[in-house]
Amino acid sequence: MSLSAEPLAGRLKTIIDQMERSKSATHGEALSLGRAPRLIGVTKGQPTEAVEAALALGLTDFGENRVQEAQGKYEALKARHPQIRLHLIGPLQTNKVKEAVALFDVIHTVDREKLADSLKAEMEKQRRTLQCLIQVNVGEEPQKSGVLPQDMDALLAHCRAINLPILGLMAVPPADLPPAPYFAWLYKNARAHDLSELSMGMSNDFETAIRFGATMVRVGTALFGERS
Ligand SMILES: *Cc1c(COP(=O)(O)O)cnc(C)c1O
Repeated sequence: MSLSAEPLAGRLKTIIDQMERSKSATHGEALSLGRAPRLIGVTKGQPTEAVEAALALGLTDFGENRVQEAQGKYEALKARHPQIRLHLIGPLQTNKVKEAVALFDVIHTVDREKLADSLKAEMEKQRRTLQCLIQVNVGEEPQKSGVLPQDMDALLAHCRAINLPILGLMAVPPADLPPAPYFAWLYKNARAHDLSELSMGMSNDFETAIRFGATMVRVGTALFGERS
């Protein structure tokens, strides 16, 4: 075992224990979309060795927020480890859609019609079906990407009309406010639209997110330590 693998194993076990405890905690009526929450290890700013160490411990889902950084790390990693499911959790520009469709398995950040159209066309061209989520700017923060809450229904309807497979919603609530009301809004809207996935919760709030029905939590620093 390498020097860094040992603390990683401990952190991974702690996080999985916390996830299981949060899942069984009832929050009034237990909020669940029916699926056990999945841990996505966020590896932006982390070296390939960190991914390798996590793979050796059984983690299969990884998240990156930039197409270019992900290509540098994951093209080789995916060739060696076909079990990897790679999630794009950062904003996607239409000029990077081709590379994103070739590399990723799940896109969490569909936030406008033009991007949805471009993803659909590229998926057909490459004959590769990726799962997609709509990112919602739940706090209506000008610096954040994501569709505004009031425009979400129209974007979802558009994605369904063009047959882009939307499985759920993703969001990053405002950093300086309690996240629970935002998680509750996301849960309610996922239910209302028959969506089965909710990507919410990061290092600081994944336990709360799970109590509010998260099916994917995106954990970086709590798992891998500070980013370089
Ligand atoms: C970086 C990032 C994360 C992980 O954040 P941590 O606080 O390090 O757990 C989760 N989601 C998104 C969208 C991110 O960009």
